[in-house]
Amino acid sequence: MRLFAIFVALFCLLYSCSARSKQMEFEFVASAPEFEAATSEYRSIWASQGDRIVEALGRYSGVQIPDRRVRIIVFEGTSNSGRSGGPLRLRASYFEPVKRATLSHELLHRYLDEVPDLGVCYPEIHDIMAVILFELWSELWGA
Ligand SMILES: [Zn+2]
Repeated sequence: MRLFAIFVALFCLLYSCSARSKQMEFEFVASAPEFEAATSEYRSIWASQGDRIVEALGRYSGVQIPDRRVRIIVFEGTSNSGRSGGPLRLRASYFEPVKRATLSHELLHRYLDEVPDLGVCYPEIHDIMAVILFELWSELWGA
């Protein structure tokens, strides 16, 4: 009976994460016409793997992001997560595997921003992220 209760709790947890990712909207926007191809590649990654990425980010971080809609600007510069409610920015010139890794890295920043009392500085958050991203990337794409 106890095993069944654990199974039900895990199912509900996974189902709620999955259902939540389908409610979120990610809009990819090229900052200039020369970044349309790169923006299309990010859209394609998101269309084929976005639900898996969001589900894994929620599961590994233990939190959800409050944003229902995330605007992602593709440009040529240093990628950054922005802040909740604001746009996330991604570098256009990366190869496809680096685009996937960067997208999940910057989104993980948003998730970890929601962890109560985490209160760590920039280098420390990247130490935490390295551990999470190793597991997440291994699960999603092999390592
Ligand atoms: Zn970072």
